[in-house]
Amino acid sequence: MKIFNFNAGPAMMPAAVMERAQKEFCNFNNTGCGILEHSHRGSAFQGVLDKTNQNIRDLFGVSDAYDIVYIQGGASMQFAMIPMNLLQGAADYVDTGTWSSKAIKEAKGFGEVRIAAQSKDTQYDHIPAFSEWKLSDDASYVHITSNNTIYGTQYPSFPKTRAPLIADMSSDIMSRRVDVSSFGLIYAGAQKNLGPSGLALVIIRKDLVGRTPANVPTMLRYETYTRENSLYNTPPTFAIYMIGLVTDWMKEIGGLGAIEKRNDEKAALLYKAIDDSDGYFSTPVRKDSRSKMNVVFRLPSEELETKFLKRTSEAGMIGLKGHRSVGGVRASIYNAMPLEGVQKLVELMENFRKNN
Ligand SMILES: *Cc1c(COP(=O)(O)O)cnc(C)c1O
Repeated sequence: MKIFNFNAGPAMMPAAVMERAQKEFCNFNNTGCGILEHSHRGSAFQGVLDKTNQNIRDLFGVSDAYDIVYIQGGASMQFAMIPMNLLQGAADYVDTGTWSSKAIKEAKGFGEVRIAAQSKDTQYDHIPAFSEWKLSDDASYVHITSNNTIYGTQYPSFPKTRAPLIADMSSDIMSRRVDVSSFGLIYAGAQKNLGPSGLALVIIRKDLVGRTPANVPTMLRYETYTRENSLYNTPPTFAIYMIGLVTDWMKEIGGLGAIEKRNDEKAALLYKAIDDSDGYFSTPVRKDSRSKMNVVFRLPSEELETKFLKRTSEAGMIGLKGHRSVGGVRASIYNAMPLEGVQKLVELMENFRKNN
């Protein structure tokens, strides 16, 4: 039986990428050994790193005004590195869920954290309207979470801010076209849309790199990574190689325009199944804030949810259980999820509703 993996992260990888990695595993580029076994300072890995950086620049439209680096510790380490390097005095944060809250908690140790807007009061069911944000004149930066993986909300667009805009794009990076030039820094844990867990992709505007206070340790300074092209110490070479394959695949299927179209189509299909169910399936997320990456919904009772999750996994659709903090069902439909997987899920939803 064909398995469709709806896990939130680590998440499914494109089948073509997994197969290519397998094919090259023991013999990369006719070198007689795997990329895992190559020196990070040798030409084989250098080629991988250069290609991966270029793929990201081409696909995402990253200009020379930005550096691209890979930093271990995932997105969660960036929650601390950002204020350590860039918070001087005060920073504005927008609280749209669990991950925003974690970023806020880390920043508090390094300066004054101001909550410019939040949706906590309504159980994080929406992205606050930009017109209601209270941004401060003296903020070092404004921090947002572009897609809220647990609550299933997503920024439909981004605000123009005076202070550098910093976004945690862990769960929607390169799922759609974005104007990178309106951001000071973009970061993403790799395990949702890019590759293996354990590292973060960081895209940082060059003028922000030199702001770090002198007492910040070498490995926690952005300049250490930008100056050495992520090779100050041994980076997670295999994870970077996998991001290289994923971005190759993204180019092959037509780039972000094509990927965005696919993602729109998948999300529309799933939300239609929810909206057309006469309330049998329901989502707590406000319509203007619905995520195209993580679709969260509920059934009429927890018993039916348990039964539904059992049915889906029997049918080969795994990873649909909602996050333990909110319950319900969550379908994570990142770039790698084919339309076929969503069609199969929608079909099961309709049958389940008729029979239960
Ligand atoms: C998954 C996720 C994180 C955490 O990523 P780690 O790499 O596990 O630290 C942070 N932010 C968002 C939005 C996420 O989806």
